[in-house]
Amino acid sequence: MLELTSATIRLHATAASSEDAIRQVGQLLADAGFIEPAYIESMLGREQQANTYLGNGIAIPHGLNEHRDLIRRTGIAVLQVPGGVAWKNGEQVRLLVGIAARSDEHLGLLANLVDVIADADVAALLASTDDPAVVIQHLGRRRAGAASPASAGAGDATAQVRMGSAHGLHARPAALFVQLASGFAADIQLAYGAHTANGKSLASLLRLGIPYDALFTISATGPDAHDAVAALQAAVESGLGEAPGSAAPAPDAAEQFRWQPASALRPLQGVAASPGLAVGPLYHYRAQRVVVRDAPAAPEQEHDALRQALAAAHAQLGQLHQDVRARAGDGDAAIFLAHQALLADPELAGQVGSLIDDGHSAAWSWQRAIEERVAAMQQLADERLAARAADLSDVGQRVLRLLVPAAQAGPQLPESPVILVAEDLLPSDTARLDPRLILGLCTALGGPTAHTAIIARSLGIPAVVGAGKALLDLPADAQAILDGGQGAIYLDPTPADVESARQAQAELSRLRDAEHATRYQPALTLDGERVEVAANIQRPSDAEVAVQAGAEGIGLMRTEFLFLERAAPPSEDEQYQAYAAMVAALNGLPLIIRTLDIGGDKAVAYFDLPAEQNPFLGVRGLRLCLQRPDIFRTQLRAIYRAALEGPVKIMFPMVATLDELRAAKAIAEQVRLDVGAPPVEIGIMVEVPSVVMMAEEFAREADFFSVGTNDLTQYAMAMDRLHPTLAKQVDALHPAVLRMIAQVVRAASAAGRPVGVCGGIAGEPRGAVILAGLGVAELSMSIPSIPTVKARLRGISMAQAQAVAQRALACATAEQVRQIPLAV
Ligand code: PEP
Ligand code: MG
Repeated sequence: MLELTSATIRLHATAASSEDAIRQVGQLLADAGFIEPAYIESMLGREQQANTYLGNGIAIPHGLNEHRDLIRRTGIAVLQVPGGVAWKNGEQVRLLVGIAARSDEHLGLLANLVDVIADADVAALLASTDDPAVVIQHLGRRRAGAASPASAGAGDATAQVRMGSAHGLHARPAALFVQLASGFAADIQLAYGAHTANGKSLASLLRLGIPYDALFTISATGPDAHDAVAALQAAVESGLGEAPGSAAPAPDAAEQFRWQPASALRPLQGVAASPGLAVGPLYHYRAQRVVVRDAPAAPEQEHDALRQALAAAHAQLGQLHQDVRARAGDGDAAIFLAHQALLADPELAGQVGSLIDDGHSAAWSWQRAIEERVAAMQQLADERLAARAADLSDVGQRVLRLLVPAAQAGPQLPESPVILVAEDLLPSDTARLDPRLILGLCTALGGPTAHTAIIARSLGIPAVVGAGKALLDLPADAQAILDGGQGAIYLDPTPADVESARQAQAELSRLRDAEHATRYQPALTLDGERVEVAANIQRPSDAEVAVQAGAEGIGLMRTEFLFLERAAPPSEDEQYQAYAAMVAALNGLPLIIRTLDIGGDKAVAYFDLPAEQNPFLGVRGLRLCLQRPDIFRTQLRAIYRAALEGPVKIMFPMVATLDELRAAKAIAEQVRLDVGAPPVEIGIMVEVPSVVMMAEEFAREADFFSVGTNDLTQYAMAMDRLHPTLAKQVDALHPAVLRMIAQVVRAASAAGRPVGVCGGIAGEPRGAVILAGLGVAELSMSIPSIPTVKARLRGISMAQAQAVAQRALACATAEQVRQIPLAV
């Protein structure tokens, strides 16, 4: 990390304007020999493009990326303007931290700044202090880095301590720590990873999020410092009033809070479908089935009505698929594609068509054909096939509601937060539930693999299924506690039970808050190895959201979403605007733009692509781009134009052969020369087993690899990732896939190429630990996973992650990989 010395700190400055202030802090950098004076203009240029105001009166002016060559060596400088200077957003800035960074050495400093920003008192102190040492202490001092915990803490007494409490420093043990610490006169500080906390402040301690077995430092300054450190060390090591931990796995947050009612309440027992606790009133949700009478018009009109209803239902399902996919990923959204397929069933169409020709209405004919099929499926012995009857019934009702406009409304949804109770829920019912109003849900029928359960999990709604018909007789509005992790629902809980359930909920949410509060800290493992954590996004506006969530860049921009749901492809300018907007929002953080990945599950009508027997094995991704150079060139032009404005890398999807990569790179190079853009790194997605086997050859020609485990798993296992019954087995933690990733990492590191993973598994804490242990340098994931994954990686050493990864490679099944304790 950077050292800050008094030579680059100027206190008590005045500034006429933000420009004047930036020039002064820039001059400090120049005088110290960190930059060429011309870099100051670049700092002003950056400020015009983007605002470097951070909060609490602090701004961090720095130059544009393309002027990094004006930086002689990485350094920082601090200008204090106690009287304040107006910033362009109208805020008063009283502390400027000028940054000249050749790489990312300033991240540790930023982590310190995040603490300062969160603490108005410290920010005010830094803006008014007369003592440069105070500034150095808060901004420049090397904190208790994970790499060198022994260096942490500068007090009269210091000790390195291992957290003995089984669930880490959560609320109860932290409260005990504060109580003990407050009995001493000395000031007490804890240092963990890149952060420090006041040992007498509960809020401050909780923000550290110290897990079981982690090494951290206690230091004390004052008359009884030695006694304080000795007493606190003993208390921490003996578990702080909690059962001391064993070498058992550090459970993931949701597993930590197993709730038990204190009273003798007997639950209605169902099947655990989605973990979490819900406390609230019951609400009976009764699907209103549309039943139609036969009132036919002329057959032509009825055929027409059916065609329109089918087209509208197809469009609704497409929208639902997009929505659920964006929220929950491919696997969970797949059911709506299966529904679309049911709509297109030729036998069904044939039967309905003949009934209409026989003089029946479209609605009646459709209802009759669906009911016959549903009844036949319900008779099937195979449980999973019988469950598909619910899907067919769902599709049937959707079309009937379109054919009979009076029935459009569908079932009533609650207007205030409730535990929703239903006989069964159709997948589309579940998808339209608003998680803010549905505290939990419980169904009489259904099993844990039903799509309802899967969607509830992905929406984070606690759920119990298969609770039996008795559920439907429970009084509406009765108070209940639903425990999704245990599959139980308790009626009329005592106030003490409600209280303890709420406490358990609060603890979990505190843990999530602690993860959120530390989201800007880099994912440094306990032994000081850094794993980059980036975001997968699909809309330009996501870039800013990703940074706010702690992303250190964009590891995958799925550009195909710019092409979907429109009548014509986006123009070069339109694409350029989108890419340039992301570059600006990222403010120097890296952006990997993946070229178009159309085909497979993502179809675009205006490309006029022939229907394919096996779309996932057909003209998809880079193959399509090579067949349609017009589309490819336009996109590459837009990307290279955006590359003139900030760091951009290009990534090709669905590469299978070296020839494809060579052809694509040749086109890219021509486009680059046309545009007059600088060279950018060109990498590939590793999604096809042929690339794994040829990784050594690919590593000579691609600048980086990003493993798309969603596709790599489907192609390795020969299981369609969207298949209604197979999709759940397409588990990227299967040892077959992990061994492939290990092979790719070996080949890439021999050639000095970095490997990232941007498939869904990178965003699962378990997956992240294993991938890090396999040597994956960058994990890119959906935005909500970022704070949790970063916290998880900060709580484990790389040596532990490697041991877990080695065990995973030796497993025979994905289930075994999912059982490995994460702290071995
Ligand atoms: C993947 O295949 O893992 C991937 C990240 O790409 P997509 O999900 O967009 O196919
Ligand atoms: Mg893919």
